[in-house]
Amino acid sequence: MLFEKLEGIVIRVKDYGESDKLVWIYTREKGKISCIAKGAKRPNSRLAACTQLFTYGIFVIQPSSGLSTIRQGDVINNLSSIKKDIVLTAYSAYVCELLDKVTEEKISNPYLFQLVMQVIVYIDEGIDAEILKQIYDVKMLEVLGIKPRLLSCSLCDRNESLVGFSLKNGGMLCNTCAHQDSNIIFLRGQLVKLLMIYSVLDITNLGKINVSEESKQILSRIINNYYDEYSGLHLKSKKFLEQLDLFV
Ligand SMILES: [Zn+2]
Repeated sequence: MLFEKLEGIVIRVKDYGESDKLVWIYTREKGKISCIAKGAKRPNSRLAACTQLFTYGIFVIQPSSGLSTIRQGDVINNLSSIKKDIVLTAYSAYVCELLDKVTEEKISNPYLFQLVMQVIVYIDEGIDAEILKQIYDVKMLEVLGIKPRLLSCSLCDRNESLVGFSLKNGGMLCNTCAHQDSNIIFLRGQLVKLLMIYSVLDITNLGKINVSEESKQILSRIINNYYDEYSGLHLKSKKFLEQLDLFV
């Protein structure tokens, strides 16, 4: 019988029947795979620990064209800070749900795996989860194929004197074009740069990044409006994050 050893993170879990679980794992090697974990609902099952949401580990899988079967799992990092904190859990749930929504099964994307793992590990290490979400959101727009224009003016292509974000035009506007959108959100120089950094930064090189609460709020509004307008996605975890009302 053929087995595969895959590195991955559990991004969705559902009870299945009396004692089994359905588990979706995002893996480095194969992308997203859906699995059955037989007996994993029983507390003494050797699959109980490795089939919890956000578990990062090495999984031994028996592949199938439909549901694969998890035979074994060794936890690399159980992300315990996230599991203990409702706000960090909410952010991580968002990261995983968005990943789940934008990916098909069994299509490998090592870049995406690296991005998601790095964001989750940073959240667990206590780096500002809202900033991480914003960076992730901007990068996921590229994966979705609806990347906003952040490095130059959306109307005239100039890459200097950028003054604000235009939802209607899908990106930044320069000071000459700013009047073309009466709903433009004007941004101070630092915020224009911050959005550029979000878009080009290699997340594994994230250094110390300080953003004021006010700036975070402005960027959050821009990014959320952009998703609402162009992505067609409705995420439960996003609603939950909004209900936590973190900007008060
Ligand atoms: Zn312009």
